[in-house]
Amino acid sequence: MLAGYAVHVEHSRGRRFPEPPHPYRNDFQRDRDRVIHARAFRRLEAKTQVFTRRYSDHFRNRLTHTLEVSQVSRTIAGALGLNVDLAEALALVHDIGHPPFGHAGEKALDAAMREHGLFFDHNLHALRIVEDFEQRYAAFRGLNLTFEVREGIIKHSHDYDPKEHPGLAEYLLDQRPPLEAQLIDLTDEIAYNTADLDDGYEAHLLSLEQIREGIPVFERFYREVEQIYPDAPHKLKFNEALKRVLNRFVDDLITNTRARLNQAGTRTLDDVRNHAERLAAFSPAVEAELKESKNFLYENLYFSSALAGEKDDAERVVGELFTFWMDHPKTLPHNYQEKAKEDSLPRVICDYIAGMTDNFIFEQYEKHCSVR
Ligand code: MG
Repeated sequence: MLAGYAVHVEHSRGRRFPEPPHPYRNDFQRDRDRVIHARAFRRLEAKTQVFTRRYSDHFRNRLTHTLEVSQVSRTIAGALGLNVDLAEALALVHDIGHPPFGHAGEKALDAAMREHGLFFDHNLHALRIVEDFEQRYAAFRGLNLTFEVREGIIKHSHDYDPKEHPGLAEYLLDQRPPLEAQLIDLTDEIAYNTADLDDGYEAHLLSLEQIREGIPVFERFYREVEQIYPDAPHKLKFNEALKRVLNRFVDDLITNTRARLNQAGTRTLDDVRNHAERLAAFSPAVEAELKESKNFLYENLYFSSALAGEKDDAERVVGELFTFWMDHPKTLPHNYQEKAKEDSLPRVICDYIAGMTDNFIFEQYEKHCSVR
């Protein structure tokens, strides 16, 4: 079933702390389950994807976004003969390092760190979560995930310069990640570029006319749907068109990646790793469509005046709390005060804030900042 260029679980480089095999689950299935049982995973439920204010309870949060990425990744991995268990584990863990308040929170946390000559990166943070912060097992710190899952956490969306990150040397930074990891960044794009249109439309921040005008690929499918279901309600025609857009992106990623693998004569995982560039990719036509959709979302949703207030709040809350704890480190929880003896105070505060949900950081803000 598995292609020669897939990651085969029996060839995994294994865990930091060797463990006996499990009777029913292979190592990647166990990693998937460990991610699902992690506290940081459960907190994704209360972290912003795009909307901090609850327009309605059926909008995506980071957890439901993660599930969508996982479901799309499994389909694509299966169609390409890749390791579905590994792709699933990587999809489920891909956003685990995100701070509260989505990208605004990430930006604010990074800005606060840069004042101390440091920075915040959600992939590096995710690795720290699974290696160190999660404490569930008596035998080791962290989740003791296999090499391939840790490597995918670091390399799925970003190429790190080995010179700038000597601490990551074990992750083969001069090689491409396996296809299972390469997929995740692309399925993430498919998921949010379609889901954010859906939520934006439901929130009445984007109109149907606006979407049809601004996103040609959507318009093409909408016209097709109008032919087939002329009398259907607008929302259902919208759903049908969006479903077709999503299918087009998924289908393109599968067929184009398959074509690239054939063209490159890819046979083994080493071929994937040593290829000059990533082999998982959209065709240029779909790449352009995704870009149009992304630009549309930036202009009309992410940077819209409707969401500007939420973004300002996010920056203020993260920035002021960070400063407060820099000035009053004794008010940090005891275990973070202990950590600050070994690590720099800004890093410890950053770790604390990054782990928070939207609700919890608002509570902290109320307690420490808003009355001053
Ligand atoms: Mg994501």
